[in-house]
Amino acid sequence: MCANGYRTPGEEGWIDVSVPLRSGMVHWPDNPPVRIERMLDMERGDVANVSTISLGSHTGTHMDAPIHFVRGGEGMDRMPLDATIGRARVIEIQDPVSIKPDELGPHEIGRGERILFKTRNSSLGWWTHDFIEDFVYVSQEAARYLADREVRTVGVDYLSVGGFWRDGVETHQALLGAGIWVIEGLDLSGVEPGEHELICLPLKVEDGDGAPARAILRR
Ligand SMILES: [Zn+2]
Repeated sequence: MCANGYRTPGEEGWIDVSVPLRSGMVHWPDNPPVRIERMLDMERGDVANVSTISLGSHTGTHMDAPIHFVRGGEGMDRMPLDATIGRARVIEIQDPVSIKPDELGPHEIGRGERILFKTRNSSLGWWTHDFIEDFVYVSQEAARYLADREVRTVGVDYLSVGGFWRDGVETHQALLGAGIWVIEGLDLSGVEPGEHELICLPLKVEDGDGAPARAILRR
């Protein structure tokens, strides 16, 4: 961290906005647990370390493909690379409950934009805690607003774009049904609002409804 509280950028100014995957980490309540175990272990005399990794497709920093909520929709392997490589705008949200059209209005979001929402979720360090039910989510009204503006990509800083108690299905359907690619589980705590360059590449899972991703940003 530097004096202004933002993370010191690494090599070439890139900031890693993905969260670490580890055994026992938080996951969506009805999704599988995360297990990462050494199957071959040099400490036990094996010639190399090799792990088995078991996790749901919507764990940690990950992406949603349309087929997650849209019958017959595209899978993760069909994602156009320009959905997650290029300019992206980080918008800081003040609302402690949900992202609403009223707060988005002044930002004049335009067609084709990649928008990442930084909410109070990031400051919680959510990836080190148990599941939080009242995380800040994209309201279904805001999801339809973003779909109307034909944004390219939406990123959020918790495990789901929709809420736990409400708008879970509606928000996913509104975004994914409009062909918007969704990044979830970001850590935007060290990132200033404004224009950035984004690279986020999810694993190429055939017909995948979701896949873990590494995401990085540069001012
Ligand atoms: Zn999702």
